[in-house]
Parts: sequence; C-alpha cells; structure tokens
Amino acid sequence: MPKTKTNLEERIAEASYVCGRCGSCRNVCPVYQEIKWESSSPRGKITLAKDVFLKHKHNKMTEFYTQRLLECTLCGKCEEICAAGIHTRGLWLDLRESLRETGRLHPNFRHLGEQIATTHNISATANEYRLDWTDDLDDFEVPQSKDGSEVAYFVGCVSSFYPQLADIPQSIVKILEQAPVKYTVLGGEEWCCGFPLISAGMSGEAQELARHNIEKVRALRVKTLITGCASCFHTWSQEYPLLLGKSKQDLGFEVLHVTEYFARLLQEKRLMPAGLSETVTYHDPCDLGRNSGVYEDPRVILQAIPGLDYVEMFHNRELADCCGGGGNLQMVDSGLSQAIAGRRVRAAVETGASILVSACQQCVQTLRDAARKEKLALEVMDVTELLWQVLDHETGGERNE
Ligand code: SF4
Ligand code: SF4
Repeated sequence: MPKTKTNLEERIAEASYVCGRCGSCRNVCPVYQEIKWESSSPRGKITLAKDVFLKHKHNKMTEFYTQRLLECTLCGKCEEICAAGIHTRGLWLDLRESLRETGRLHPNFRHLGEQIATTHNISATANEYRLDWTDDLDDFEVPQSKDGSEVAYFVGCVSSFYPQLADIPQSIVKILEQAPVKYTVLGGEEWCCGFPLISAGMSGEAQELARHNIEKVRALRVKTLITGCASCFHTWSQEYPLLLGKSKQDLGFEVLHVTEYFARLLQEKRLMPAGLSETVTYHDPCDLGRNSGVYEDPRVILQAIPGLDYVEMFHNRELADCCGGGGNLQMVDSGLSQAIAGRRVRAAVETGASILVSACQQCVQTLRDAARKEKLALEVMDVTELLWQVLDHETGGERNE
C-alpha cells in the first residue's frame, strides 16, 4: 500500500537513528559485492535517503540516486543480518513507491506497468494463451476452472509464457495427476500476481490484480491454492493480505508453495520416488525462504529420493545468497544481475554437486543462464522437474477423470 510522505520520513529517521553503521549488511549484500561502492550498499542507501528526505537536499534526488535505489534484488539478506532490526527490505519498497510518486519511475518499470494493464501478464502475449504450455501434454487434459476441485494451481506468468520453462508447470500437473489430486488451473482467468508491480513501486496497480485473482480462486471453492513460483507464493501469502488490509485466513483457502504440498503427498505415500545416483544441492529462492519462511519442504523432497547425495551450499537457508533475478534488477542492470548469478552457480559447483535445484522458475532461469555462460558442468533444474523425473510411475493412485 502506498505510504504517506510522513510515514516514509519517519521510517527513514528511525532507520538512520538505530543504524550503528556496523557494515554487516554491506558484507552480505550481493549488489555491494559486485559494485563495491558504499552508495550501493544497504547502509549507503539509508544515507542517500536520509540526505533527500531528512536533510531536504532534494537536489540529491538525481538519476544516480534512483539508480542506486534500484540496484537491489530485494533479497532481504541485509534485513536478516541487521542486528539493529531495521526492516530494510520494506524500506526499499517504500522508497520505490516514492520514486513513482515523484515521477521518477524507471522507464522499463513504466513499460511493465503498461504491459500488465493491457494483457494482465508480464508478456506481450494475450492472456487467453496462458495454457499454451499444456499443448505438449498428450496423455491428459489440464482441467480449467473445474468445479469440485480440491486444489487450484496458480501457474504464474513466467511458467505460462516462457516456453523454455514449460517443463516446470508440465511436471507439476503430471505429479498432481499421478498422486492423484483433484486440481484445476485458472487459464485465462489467471492474472499476473502483481509482484513485479509491487517490486517496481506500483503497489496501487497490484491491488486490482489481487482482487481479481482472489475472487476467481474463491469462486472455485477449493481448499488449497498452490503456486510453483516463489514470488507468486510470497505475494499470495504475504502481500495480498497487506494490500487488501485483511488477514491470511480471510482468503478462505490455504496458500501453499508446491514444495509444501508435494512434501505432504510424499509423507502420505501418494508419491513414491525411485532412486537417483547424483550429488544435488539446493538454492533457496529469497521469496520462498527468507521472505516467506519456507526452508525445509524442498529439502524434504530431495532427501526422500533414494540414492540422492544431498549437499548444502555454504550460504543456505536464512543466509542463502540471491540468484540475481529478484527486485526487477534485470530491467535496471542485466549485467549486474548476471554477475550475481555467476557468483551463485560457482558456489554451487564448489559443493561438488552435478545438479543445482531450486524451487522458483525465475531462479531456475537466471541460474541456468549463468551456468551456461560460465560453461559450468552443472545442470540447473526446478525441484518439481527432478521429482517428476524420479517418480516411480508404476505406483500412485488412479488418474483423474
Ligand atoms: S546491518 Fe543494520 S545497523 Fe549495521 S550498517 Fe547495516 S543497516 Fe546499519
Ligand atoms: S535487499 Fe539484498 S540486494 Fe537489496 S540492499 Fe539488501 S542485501 Fe542488498
């Protein structure tokens, strides 16, 4: 929700007052690790905001100021490490709102806003083509807005419109079919979750998307909504209640990331993985882990696979490093985003793993590109792709009808 100017000034004043300038945030910030200028660090961003809003040096609200604010993946690691308890990530989002309010919206963000307002998704493709990723599925029809479903699968824009990632939603529905689960997707009724707009400082525009999506899912009377995308999950579970001034319970259905749901199905023995003889490591998506609190379920899935040798990356769980694909950074500085991703895939190789798994389409895409560019012998995949590959397809219940 857009903050008033006074609110923002109060928050900057509080952050400036309690910040002991210890530099811990600087040491963990993936952006600072690449740029190495104080102004690019979390601590430096607070100083820039203090100059503009508290010292009223409005001449400092320059392109440089805007660029420094937007050079951030919104990974939240600065907030995690800050011993003073400063809610930095929320502050970065508020400062992005202020850029928009003062007419300093980044041109690529403006274009994104216009795009979503037109097609209701992040691509230029009409929303009615949201189910194109199902075209290769010959064995069954993916149910669309089907009454009597227990679970609604919110696919997300990246999975829906990036053919190179179609294997992820396909794996998810194949697993749901095998369990079997009475599920449905929304097809063209699904709109962008709004996270790219919230990240751009346009939370006002995201409210309409939130209302629409909630209304469509409520109409299905499902018990559970699952998402395969970490950012969609974060938006549904954390941002929608905030945007609409309601509690999570008011949604009327539970919201789970697909890894939480599949871990549940494994526990109920509705899915039986066969073996895999590979060394695998896991990248925690910021929006699933640090920003939403889901750490264990993806690991539960991986560790349920017989023969799989699971190794942790040095920076994991709360202290995991970002993949570089968050915060709309690719729209602001794609080279910086790639440099951050390169650092992460090299860290994955150091574990000795041959497969790097994540639980978010955006992370998978960013890390896969980085592994290719760095010419690393590292396969990057989503946990749902791996799970589908290793499932014993002879077991499981009857298929959905
Ligand atoms: S970690 Fe917190 S207290 Fe330390 S410099 Fe960063 S914002 Fe300030
Ligand atoms: S959210 Fe992440 S990228 Fe942004 S300032 Fe904090 S640590 Fe750096």
